[in-house]
Amino acid sequence: MRILIIEDELPMVRSLTRGLEAEGYSVDVATDGEQGLASALSMTYDAIILDLMLPKLNGHAVTESLRSSGSRVPVLMLTAKQGEFDQTEALDTGADDYLSKPFSYPVLLARLRALIRRGGAPRGAVLVQGDLRLDTKEHRCWRSDEEVSLTPREMSLLTYLMHRPAEAVSKAELLDHVWDQASERDPNVVEVYVGYLRRKLDRPGHPSHIETVRSFGYRLSASQETAVAAAVTAVSPPDSGGQ
Ligand code: CA
Repeated sequence: MRILIIEDELPMVRSLTRGLEAEGYSVDVATDGEQGLASALSMTYDAIILDLMLPKLNGHAVTESLRSSGSRVPVLMLTAKQGEFDQTEALDTGADDYLSKPFSYPVLLARLRALIRRGGAPRGAVLVQGDLRLDTKEHRCWRSDEEVSLTPREMSLLTYLMHRPAEAVSKAELLDHVWDQASERDPNVVEVYVGYLRRKLDRPGHPSHIETVRSFGYRLSASQETAVAAAVTAVSPPDSGGQ
């Protein structure tokens, strides 16, 4: 098993290398994005551990180039503290999994093994919350067993919320992460899109999947109620669809 580490923090590189070699992996190292991409394209690796913040080319750019060149090598992205970066983006640009620093070494090993097991199989990050399931790679969404068709913007909004289950997320944060700088910066646009999502995801007479947190934002419901309700009713609401 050959692993490529692309990371510019040398103490981190040293401890990762030592740990992985002790587990029997062969390890190559690149300390900037350009060098990392070049190695990744010229050698066959079983997995790549890729830091997000790198000199010359950041982690997103590296995975994007790798994927557009057809490489399906499993990528585990290392990111700064939670909240400082966009986890949705990490997965959208082609990473298979991510880990926030600081991480525990056993967790890293477990994630790495899981990625290598999945190997070259068609993969995507599948997020599950209650009766909602989202395949961020294929851009498909299901409520229970029923597929729900979402627009790209609805998909990014739901993906973002599903990465933060049961956590209140402010409208400002959603605007920052789901809408680009050039688009409208009006928090009302968030309300409008949450409305679209509710129409598509919720069942009449059941609590909404997306709770409103007054004067702040929204929270993806973590209640088991929706999952249980989904298990007993397999009826689609008459007003599903439309935006
Ligand atoms: Ca770094």
